Amino acid sequence: MLPYKLVYHEGYDLRLGDHVFPSQKYRYIHDRLLRDRFATAEDFVRPEPASDADILAVHEPGWVERLKCGTLSYQELMQLEVPYSRELVEAYWLAAGGSMLAARLAVEQGIGFNLGGGFHHAFAGHGEGFCAINDIAVALRAMQRGGTIQRAMVVDCDVHHGNGTAGIFTGDTSVFTLSIHQFNNYPTEKPPSSLDIHLPDGAGDEEYLHRLGNGYRTALTMFHPELMIYVAGADPYCEDQLGGLSLSFEGLRERDHLVIWTALHSHIPVAIVLAGGYAVNVQDTVTIHANTAHVAKEVLGKTG
Ligand SMILES: [Zn+2]
Repeated sequence: MLPYKLVYHEGYDLRLGDHVFPSQKYRYIHDRLLRDRFATAEDFVRPEPASDADILAVHEPGWVERLKCGTLSYQELMQLEVPYSRELVEAYWLAAGGSMLAARLAVEQGIGFNLGGGFHHAFAGHGEGFCAINDIAVALRAMQRGGTIQRAMVVDCDVHHGNGTAGIFTGDTSVFTLSIHQFNNYPTEKPPSSLDIHLPDGAGDEEYLHRLGNGYRTALTMFHPELMIYVAGADPYCEDQLGGLSLSFEGLRERDHLVIWTALHSHIPVAIVLAGGYAVNVQDTVTIHANTAHVAKEVLGKTG
């Protein structure tokens, strides 16, 4: 039995077919963790979709209505970069419910792990880059509204800047946003996070871990969160199709360890969400995400 729960729903699959975003990865990760006997069926919990009230605590009513009614403009559809369907909308609501559940479980058990979510390019009033609903912000707002926490930190390690999350929390002193990403990559416009670590093209394990460690520790001296959301993107990997960094499997494991250990050692619970991953071989993306689950178990065993 795992010392934390894995939040998963088969409806996470955005059903994109032949698309650079392998949204079937959620099922592959679920299956891999079972096949490797890392987890059993009892270790998984199924989320409910977020309620519209939860979504509307972050997103503008017009955006939510156009998403639900299928009345997005051509421009909005182009920016989203995924084909619209009812199932797509349901998957975003489920991912947000999954991140909400992972956040609640984190506060109860130290770690909560959503095998989905991390849609950090979604802004309050529009979606882009495969992201329509910002599950990270929805989960944090739900925890704050419920009075469970007041202050939270987002540590976004996807190779792309967390522009939507940064935009949503601009001017909000209750949420500290940290993004470490490749500078010369999507999105072109990068609204400032509380702390942005811009990396040059091709940065590898050593530079990444050094810059992340310094920035993260500095952030924690300035801000004391009651909950951490770790956006554990798999796309800083050297063979990623949409990324231009050069991290190895081992470097990504060390990144996971650094983020999770530092938080738990400071008694800060960690909710983990997946975000991107576009390796040439989808099984590499699955390995990177599965490794994050392994690292979470190791660290919780040492600090829990
Ligand atoms: Zn990404």
